[in-house]
Amino acid sequence: MTTPDRTIVAVVGAGPAGLLLARLLHRAGIGCVVLESRDRAYVERRQRAGILEQGTVDALRACGAAGRLDREGLAHDGIELRWNGRGHRIDLPSLTEGRRVWVYAQTEVVKDLVALHLADGAPLLFDAEVTAVTGADTERPVVHYTHEGAERTLACDYVVGCDGFHGVVRTAIPEGELRTFERAYPYAWLGILADAPPSCEELIYAHSPRGFALHSMRSPSVSRLYLQVPVGTDPAAWSDEQIWDELEARFAVDGPWRLNRGPVTQRSVLPLRSHVTEPMRWGRILLAGDAAHIVPPTGAKGLNLAVSDVVLLARAFAEQASTGSAAGLDAYSDACLRRVWRAEHFSWFMTTTLHTAPDQNPFDTRLQLAQLDRIAASPHAAAELAQNYAGLPVH
Ligand SMILES: Cc1cc2nc3c(=O)[nH]c(=O)nc-3n(C[C@H](O)[C@H](O)[C@H](O)COP(=O)(O)OP(=O)(O)OC[C@H]3O[C@@H](n4cnc5c(N)ncnc54)[C@H](O)[C@@H]3O)c2cc1C
Repeated sequence: MTTPDRTIVAVVGAGPAGLLLARLLHRAGIGCVVLESRDRAYVERRQRAGILEQGTVDALRACGAAGRLDREGLAHDGIELRWNGRGHRIDLPSLTEGRRVWVYAQTEVVKDLVALHLADGAPLLFDAEVTAVTGADTERPVVHYTHEGAERTLACDYVVGCDGFHGVVRTAIPEGELRTFERAYPYAWLGILADAPPSCEELIYAHSPRGFALHSMRSPSVSRLYLQVPVGTDPAAWSDEQIWDELEARFAVDGPWRLNRGPVTQRSVLPLRSHVTEPMRWGRILLAGDAAHIVPPTGAKGLNLAVSDVVLLARAFAEQASTGSAAGLDAYSDACLRRVWRAEHFSWFMTTTLHTAPDQNPFDTRLQLAQLDRIAASPHAAAELAQNYAGLPVH
């Protein structure tokens, strides 16, 4: 592919945020170029999120990117919370006016969007690492990147940082212009992928005296499971058998229940943190997805927030292209942050209600159990959880 040196919107990063934004802009006839530091195979294999909210599915459908999702995705109408040896099911549709979630891995969303983008002949450069953005406070910002051993530049009207938490676009904003809010949690997740049919039809979030565990899945033959582990845990320090034994202990429940075991094909340790950067726009730079905010994965919100950011952003660019009004772009940061903070709160709530902190005392544990009992007893408390979990409508 020839390397363009001028576009309207330079999109940095080909994760879900960058790829979906590029698709929406391309369909609206707005020129954009996506620059991604990694190669295609790496981006398509990176194991991350797997729960899509109703609004995310609707957004993918609306731009013609849900064909395989509709064939292969698993629609889920509930989740189970498990504590004190018993389970309680949260029925999503009845508590949310019909909303549900889909199990469809982020890897598959990324593969689908990359394939569509390339089929459209839209510019998407892999192995193109952005090193700096200059002129963001002018009308002609410039993105500096390396590609095929050469240093290149891309002049544009706007730069959108969809380059994740460790990206460079955010660092082009002068420090005094941004505020960051963050919390690091005193535990991490050991996540595995296993060639084992899921042991349950819906996700199980388990509170246990031994720590949190989550049973999820990727397909009818692949399970995705997580264990709360201490910060700094080496994933290789646990044998497969230890992982399965610990999962079994944490999911223990009165009555029949069996954990299906199988070969562990991938494992990694994920730190848990909350982080928000405000504002999400400065000059001609806009931030979207993990580049602007991180949530602990307990609420399954990271990928879904990335999608809702770029749906709003694409609409604002389209409005500017058709009417000349920059009102949507000017309102972008505030509109996103309202939703971001709701998701931050929910993710924090799920995390702190279900995990056992290293310094947790019996009083703290009783509070967690009282909260879980309340969710089981009160339709209002259950509805609050369900509405947050299934996700608010995307703007
Ligand atoms: C390691 C990890 C594990 C996760 N696991 C889970 C999980 O188990 N469950 C869950 O619900 N959520 C999980 N999440 C959260 C969820 O996957 C993210 O919220 C989601 O990926 C956000 O999408 P994004 O497009 O904003 O960012 P990303 O998916 O991070 O995409 C950013 C892209 O930018 C590229 N990039 C970075 N720097 C540059 C540069 N300088 N130049 C060009 N390109 C650049 C990166 O290579 C990447 O492709 C995880 C996140 C991470 C980081």
